[in-house]
Amino acid sequence: MTVQLVWFRNDLRLTDHAALAAAAAAGPVLALYVLDDETPGAWAMGAAQRWWLHHSLAALSAQIVSLGGRLVLRRGRAGAVVRALAAATGARVTAIRHHEPWAAVQEAEAGPVSLFHGATLAPPDQVISGSGGRYRIFTPWWRKLLEQMPPPRPQPMPDVRWADAANLATDDLGSWGLLPTAPDWSGGFADWQPGEAGALARLKAFAARAAGYDAARNLPGEEGTSRLSPHLALGEVSPATAWHAIADAVGQDVAEPWLRELGWRDFSANIIDQFPDHGDAPNRAAFARFPFRDDPAGLKAWERGETGYPIVDAGMRQLWATGWMHNRVRMITASFLVKHQLIDWRNGERWFWDTLLDADYGNNAQGWQWVMGSGVDSSPFNRIFAPVGQSAKFDAAAYIRRWVPELAGLPDALIHAPWQAGTALIRAGVKLGRDYPAPIVDHDAARARALAAWAAVKAA
Ligand SMILES: Cc1cc2nc3c(=O)[nH]c(=O)nc-3n(C[C@H](O)[C@H](O)[C@H](O)COP(=O)(O)OP(=O)(O)OC[C@H]3O[C@@H](n4cnc5c(N)ncnc54)[C@H](O)[C@@H]3O)c2cc1C
Repeated sequence: MTVQLVWFRNDLRLTDHAALAAAAAAGPVLALYVLDDETPGAWAMGAAQRWWLHHSLAALSAQIVSLGGRLVLRRGRAGAVVRALAAATGARVTAIRHHEPWAAVQEAEAGPVSLFHGATLAPPDQVISGSGGRYRIFTPWWRKLLEQMPPPRPQPMPDVRWADAANLATDDLGSWGLLPTAPDWSGGFADWQPGEAGALARLKAFAARAAGYDAARNLPGEEGTSRLSPHLALGEVSPATAWHAIADAVGQDVAEPWLRELGWRDFSANIIDQFPDHGDAPNRAAFARFPFRDDPAGLKAWERGETGYPIVDAGMRQLWATGWMHNRVRMITASFLVKHQLIDWRNGERWFWDTLLDADYGNNAQGWQWVMGSGVDSSPFNRIFAPVGQSAKFDAAAYIRRWVPELAGLPDALIHAPWQAGTALIRAGVKLGRDYPAPIVDHDAARARALAAWAAVKAA
């Protein structure tokens, strides 16, 4: 019987994996993962996600071993590695289709590959308008997607007969150097449990509180969102599994706000499928001539959470410490970089890519272009988030206390703008410029500067 080579990519799971299911039904299965830093080029996996990948592969490998198989690990240009292994073993190759621009290159180089749907709720090229066109705006796209929802019920883990892989060379996972060495910055990642079991546990825990999602999802101080994003990014749980788990738990109507966010993930795949360079190029031409400032010190201050705006600094420190940042705060911090500091969005996008455990090419590009105003579906440039107003509106005092402990002694009402805290600062023992930075830009001046820059671009 022909050996079936299952080429795992960002779909590190055994349940609801259509390529594995098809392979298992056809013959003995050989499991492969290739660490490919070449084909994605500048979009090779970032440092934080490599930490996740290490643990996720360790979990998948252990799971496969417990079932009597072996996960073969290889490093190199994925297409060439897959092609060579298929030739050496006479195997037929199956994989899940992915939508990052480099995925198609890998597939073309790998030789014949049977591709299956499973990275998104629906294949991006199958959500099309009545006239056969693709969507670029979320709301009509979402309406159309809903006509195809719910997705098929997830497939259980198939019965797999594993091919004999004893004689195949495999890398030692530890030799890939995915984990940080000195200094080890991953100490704050301990709450995460990479791997399929961790993903399903998190999904179950979220299902129990999903009814409260709509009320709590914008409050960074609450555990209001699912935190499934790193699991979804590496495909440890399929989006269809996630959809059904939450819809079953609270009913389709109550689940709708969350399913809609899950929809944004599919929408991003739809965008990069149409605009593969969305991570590098603004979609609206005017933004190619935007007068960004070259400000390395300002960029450093933003990365380190030392801008003097507590909500911005809390978010950037949460990101560094835990590899994740609340969505509301991603919008605030991103807006601050591009509009208050006038620093090119691609600098922020790269920093997120390197520090997010959930780094996802489509979601990240879509998020940054949305905030910048340069995307296909985005917030207008002249909508500028006021960090202090946002911080108060979304009740971020406790969140700030957690991530910016030097301000912990300030009362809730004053913690959002310490430079206006007067004597409360003295009572809290804080001297701006010594214990916590003074704001690196003044909000009103920054806002006026950003609007003037945009007006000049439009007039040119
Ligand atoms: C500037 C910027 C950059 C971003 N970069 C990424 C990224 O690299 N990777 C990433 O997964 N998300 C990114 N997001 C989207 C969003 O912030 C995260 O998906 C979300 O915060 C993850 O937390 P959660 O799992 O608790 O989300 P939940 O609110 O529980 O949502 C469930 C799932 O839906 C998807 N989702 C939710 N919101 C969005 C959104 N706005 N766009 C696309 N998908 C969404 C995610 O897969 C998420 O896990 C970015 C947003 C912004 C503004």
